[in-house]
Amino acid sequence: MQVKEWKKNIRTVVPYIPGEQPKEENVIKLNTNENPYPPSKKVMDKLKEIENLRLYPDPSAKLLVDEIAKHFHVNSNQVFVGVGSDDVLAMAFLTFFNGKNPIFFPDITYSFYDVWAELFRIPYEKQALDSEFRIKKEDYYKENGGIIFPNPNAPTGIGESLVFIEDIVKHNQDSVVIIDEAYVDFGGESAISLVEQYENLLVVQTFSKSRSMAGMRIGYAIGSETLIQAMQNVKYSFNSYTMNQPSISLGVESLKDQTYFEETVKKIINTREWFGEELKKLGFEFPNSKTNFLFVTHPIYSAKDMYEKARKERIYVRYFEKPRIDNYLRITIGTEEEMKALLTFFKKYMEIR
Ligand code: PMP
Repeated sequence: MQVKEWKKNIRTVVPYIPGEQPKEENVIKLNTNENPYPPSKKVMDKLKEIENLRLYPDPSAKLLVDEIAKHFHVNSNQVFVGVGSDDVLAMAFLTFFNGKNPIFFPDITYSFYDVWAELFRIPYEKQALDSEFRIKKEDYYKENGGIIFPNPNAPTGIGESLVFIEDIVKHNQDSVVIIDEAYVDFGGESAISLVEQYENLLVVQTFSKSRSMAGMRIGYAIGSETLIQAMQNVKYSFNSYTMNQPSISLGVESLKDQTYFEETVKKIINTREWFGEELKKLGFEFPNSKTNFLFVTHPIYSAKDMYEKARKERIYVRYFEKPRIDNYLRITIGTEEEMKALLTFFKKYMEIR
């Protein structure tokens, strides 16, 4: 039978596959880098006061934009907000990556980058991390159509210094360089301090991890007025009302509670360091993490098998069946109790085999 003409015009894409959101109760969920603690009480209190859902939200999300600008000591016209950093990053790809040269990102990194590149038909070239999963900055000195990578990188958890980032930006004055700082609050160094100096640098962050608000979908970018204005123009050509009203006002409340933010982040860092030591005792190996997850491998036991067996015990971690990393598990840092349950699982697993 002949293929219908309209079917030939359907865009075929291979979508990004997010981590599983299990429907069953009583699971230990360490697979999507969520924060195990609730958002600030200020956020929860404000939630009860949400009203006027009848009205469209402010398309410019001014209250939130202004609060973010205040928090980072930049001007409001240097801030772009969106529905999670995924939305912000997608807008940035669409706005900035329109050259003929390929954009560069690491071969092991956030797996949404090649999906957006494919969707928007942006040529790209992956640059291989070294054998210790470090970014080789010289790879990014070649001619390119733009650069994007997370710092700290995901899923490796490795953070690079501000000097390292600045070197890459300095060598790329003719491209837009995007640093995805989804995990920066857990020990990384932010490049926001460089945006005044480099008009081509965009830094993207999120409320999903360190601010415990993955469910609200709030992300933002900070950069020069020129970059932000260009992103606004694209966004308003696509959908004016991306941020809903509750996200705008609850985001503001979260930023007001710096004490709670710092406490929560510190708790997660402490749990990460303790849990890492415990994992080492069991023979696991992993790079030093500056994030809320550890990227671990074991010289004897198969990551895939451990992932599957843990899942049967209702403990969810992330496993990527991909070249170079198919014997690794990405484990989100949950509460101490959750990590203890995972350690108990590993101990039992190692004994019974
Ligand atoms: N960047 C990186 C590196 C991530 O791991 C994630 C989380 N999946 C995101 C961006 C997107 O996070 P969100 O859309 O929740 O802000």
